[in-house]
Amino acid sequence: MNILVCISRVPDTATRILVGPDGKTIDTQGIKYVISPYDEYGIEEALRLKEKNGGTVTAVTVGNESSTDILRTALAMCVDKAVHIKADEKKDSFFVAKNLAEYAKEMNPDLIFMGRQSVDYDSLQMPSMVSEFLGLPSVSVVSKLTIVDGKATAERDVEGGKEIVEVSLPCIISCQKGLNEPRYPKLPDIMKAKSKPIEAREAIQTEEKVTVMSMAIPSKQRIGKLLGDGDGDVEELVRLLHEEAKII
Ligand SMILES: Cc1cc2nc3c(=O)[nH]c(=O)nc-3n(C[C@H](O)[C@H](O)[C@H](O)COP(=O)(O)OP(=O)(O)OC[C@H]3O[C@@H](n4cnc5c(N)ncnc54)[C@H](O)[C@@H]3O)c2cc1C
Repeated sequence: MNILVCISRVPDTATRILVGPDGKTIDTQGIKYVISPYDEYGIEEALRLKEKNGGTVTAVTVGNESSTDILRTALAMCVDKAVHIKADEKKDSFFVAKNLAEYAKEMNPDLIFMGRQSVDYDSLQMPSMVSEFLGLPSVSVVSKLTIVDGKATAERDVEGGKEIVEVSLPCIISCQKGLNEPRYPKLPDIMKAKSKPIEAREAIQTEEKVTVMSMAIPSKQRIGKLLGDGDGDVEELVRLLHEEAKII
């Protein structure tokens, strides 16, 4: 089984994000980047399927030159091949999806793993767009997966419950927390990954469909008020509800 895993390079979730001077992008100074956490579930699931059934696992990312760092991490986790589609500026989801789909057409994988969303821009558009470009079924937010006889049975998290769906391969699976516990790369594999080849490809240019007009950090101004639990506080609560909130 040949599996493609699409991985996105995002700021470490512990990073304090600031808006850049243009007011439309984030300030990238001092940011530590990682593989988007949902994509790690994709890598892990692909590796487990390969360990069970044989085949290959390819990791692909679209991004600037620095994106090779996450491909090295994927190689250290023991994917077989890493592909870097070079795009030097921040692009919209349509551009990235088109490029991922073009690579997938060429590779013709049995299965494509993506994260349920990338934890930077949180667009949640990529799996649906790639599936539309490829004409493949797509199952989103998958927290359990079984593959038997060319069919995938996937458990999806839906509001207040689970949904079980079945699709035939090839298909796209977008991964949710709980699917597995991603492995940590071992030191010898990290060392080996440093000298492994990364296939570089030029991106196909497309028009951008979405333009970011502005970006802002939400105000941290506290609008709640804390009262105590004394008798006087009840009176104060009534007064506030009446005079300030004007709801009684
Ligand atoms: C600071 C910064 C700089 C960036 N610079 C560039 C750049 O120079 N060139 C460029 O092309 N992009 C760049 N990007 C990435 C690009 O903006 C996003 O990848 C793209 O907008 C998709 O994000 P999304 O929220 O739509 O993804 P979602 O739809 O939320 O992502 C869902 C899944 O799609 C897959 N996916 C998402 N993005 C990628 C990707 N880039 N490669 C492979 N798989 C992916 C992952 O599996 C992900 O879990 C940059 C992002 C940041 C934060």
